Amino acid sequence: MYDSLKKVVSSGLAEINEAGLYKGQRLISGHQGTIVEVEGKELINFCANNYLGLSGKQELVDVAKENLDKYGYGLSSVRFICGTQTVHKELEAKIAEFLHKEDAITFTSCWDANEAVFASLLTADDAVLTDALNHASLIDGIRLCKAERRIFKHMDMSDLEQQLQDTQDKRLRCIVTDGVFSMDGDVAPLKEICDLADKYDAYVVVDDSHATGFMGETGRGAVEQEGVLDRVDIITTTFGKALGGANGGCIAGPKEVIELLHQKARTTLFTNSLAPVIAGTTIFVLDYIDQHPELREQLWTNTNYFREKMIAAGFTVPESVHPIVPVMIGDGKAAGDMAADMLEEGIYVIGFSYPVVPMDTARIRVQISAEHTIEQIDVLVTAFTKLGKKYGIID
Ligand SMILES: *Cc1c(COP(=O)(O)O)cnc(C)c1O
Repeated sequence: MYDSLKKVVSSGLAEINEAGLYKGQRLISGHQGTIVEVEGKELINFCANNYLGLSGKQELVDVAKENLDKYGYGLSSVRFICGTQTVHKELEAKIAEFLHKEDAITFTSCWDANEAVFASLLTADDAVLTDALNHASLIDGIRLCKAERRIFKHMDMSDLEQQLQDTQDKRLRCIVTDGVFSMDGDVAPLKEICDLADKYDAYVVVDDSHATGFMGETGRGAVEQEGVLDRVDIITTTFGKALGGANGGCIAGPKEVIELLHQKARTTLFTNSLAPVIAGTTIFVLDYIDQHPELREQLWTNTNYFREKMIAAGFTVPESVHPIVPVMIGDGKAAGDMAADMLEEGIYVIGFSYPVVPMDTARIRVQISAEHTIEQIDVLVTAFTKLGKKYGIID
């Protein structure tokens, strides 16, 4: 009998609609890239996590095809039954080396990695200290473990210190933070966090999904940029953003931790291993990043160019050093309407408003890629300037 459920679902949908929170989907035909065809119209794409421009790249498609031929399409198994191929072990060794850790374990997403990392290591005897703005997957991952959950104010080191003092009677203290927070592109104070971890005998988990591959001198992430690559105990990250943008994630850390995760993590024991085509292609991507430092240089050139032009045009863009550039609009409806008008100007961006971001801090989030040309960024700035005047955001 579907009748009862139907009523509940329909009113749930109506509520979402009335609150203006309904998320539509625009259909892209063809590859991801800086130019995408969206419902018959060509748009310049400024809303992908495609920071290095690898997602639609033909070289990756070619490598993926080779891997399909070599390893087949799927494994129809979990890791410990018959789902581990040589390519998985090669990728894990490669990730460990890339992130300066002893070992690594792959998952079909970083979401799954984050579901594994707390419940496998922590019990009710322990405490987990988590930044208030951590990613939803960390929030859910923490919910799955029995440790006492302590939320510290966003990037507030005195609050974190207080909570570390309050949990000294616990067996273990785990501090967890995003390396980069996705709404503002702000970078966590990882050095200070590691200092506090040393002082209060805690270990540190960083989810570097929005930084792996392009932040730091050699693209190891926010952990490298902040000088703590060798101090952070455990790194989780995704292959679904800068590293080609398909699927997959991992945890890198001390060898005993990885060994225990293979034994206990429910998102590896009871779900299929990463598709070999992605494992093989990710190996290629990690080498590619080492061989192409010019991609990172171009990304920062593009990002700085856009920031400077927008500030010169009179817009408010928060201080930060990440290709996520939020253009502050303030009013939620204006941000939504302006993002819709941008489509008419041939530009694909998304407006974010409450409750995704705090009230009255609605913004259009621009994401810059190494693949964007300066000409494309000029088109973006021109469109922002035109619409910024229309909506009274700038003079
Ligand atoms: C995108 C993101 C994830 C999710 O990654 P998937 O591999 O797509 O599951 C997890 N954590 C953070 C911080 C992210 O930005």
